[in-house]
This record gives sequence, C-alpha cells and structure tokens, in this order.
Amino acid sequence: MKFVIATNNKKKLKELSAILETLGIDALSLKEAGVETDVEETGTTFAENARLKAENAMKITGLPAVADDSGLEVFALGGEPGIYSARYGGDLPDDEARYMYLLSNMRGIEDRTARFVSTICCTFPEGEEILVEGEVRGEILEIAIGDGGFGYDPVFYLPDEECTMAQLSAERKNEISHRANALVKFKEELVKRM
Ligand code: IMP
Repeated sequence: MKFVIATNNKKKLKELSAILETLGIDALSLKEAGVETDVEETGTTFAENARLKAENAMKITGLPAVADDSGLEVFALGGEPGIYSARYGGDLPDDEARYMYLLSNMRGIEDRTARFVSTICCTFPEGEEILVEGEVRGEILEIAIGDGGFGYDPVFYLPDEECTMAQLSAERKNEISHRANALVKFKEELVKRM
C-alpha cells in the first residue's frame, strides 16, 4: 500500500515515513507522488489546515495522504500565536524575533501557561479520515534559555523536565513533544484500520 506525505519539511517527512514503514506502508514524498501545487493554509484551526494539505495531495494522487499542522498556544493571549505561529508578528526575520515579540506581548502577564499542539490528518480516497492531536504543556519564560530545537523552544519551560524545550536533547524532545504524542496516537488509529 502507498501513502503520500503532504509536507515539504524533511524532518516531518522522515518521522511520518518511519511510522508508516513499520506498518508495511510505502511512504511517498510530494515530489515522488508528482504533487507540485502548494495549498494555501486558509483554515482557522490546526485541524482544518492539516486537512487542507492532506486533501489536496489525496485528490491529486488518488492515494491516502497524511499532513500535519502545529504551533504554540498561550492561554492568557486567547490561544495566540496558534495557527499563526510561523508568521507571528508579520514579517519578522527569524524565530528569535518571533519569540522576542511574544515575550514583549506577555510583559506583565502573570499566567504564563501555554501548550504546543500538533495535529495530524490522514485522508483516504474513500472519504474517511484520521484526525489526531498531540500536545505538551509548559510555561513561557521571561527570557530565552538554551539553543537546541527551533521556533519557540528557548522560551518554553517544561516543569516536569526542569528545563526549556531548547535545553532538551533531540532524542528527549522526540520522546515528549506534541509531535511525538500525535505520532503515537496516529499509529494507534492507523493500526485499528489495517
Ligand atoms: P509548522 O506546523 O511546521 O508550520 O509549524 C508552525 C510553527 O509552530 C513553527 O514555525 C514554529 O514557530 C511553531 N512550532 C511548531 N512546533 C514547534 C516546536 O517543536 N518547537 C518550537 N516551535 C514550534
């Protein structure tokens, strides 16, 4: 059986392919499946955006397609930056500028609780879908600590680990992250359907 992984992100492609391969599924990249169109992320939730990306690839190839969407939600900011995590603050130059912008928006805010969310959507040509969400909860610090990971990792403190996401080894991050949690759930749902 063949599935398309609807992402241009090499790391995500690797993670998702590895899971599919354990189930005997051949995972094709967008390029390998001949999908050249990029879909616009016009959804208002992580689930809608993941579904848009998966459906686009599924319709073009006729194969089951998997996509994911992720981001950071800060409770005191009503869930911001949320689906806008990658472009928070408009045209800021890099991740550091985006997390500094977040810290400036949170000056004086006491409730620092937040979560990283990862939603995975898999759509099948017959019309069914698998939709799962993984999360990891933490707190937004007032300063950045650590230089691992990417995105908002240096300002995201994990009380259970007693460090920021950017201070975790890549291996540990892969065990406890929102994406890892979503991948575990995704595999469970896929197994039920095999
Ligand atoms: P995307 O789902 O790859 O488009 O990710 C959206 C954005 O969410 C990224 O550009 C980051 O800003 C943020 N994000 C998602 N996952 C992580 C993570 O593991 N650490 C830090 N930031 C993340």
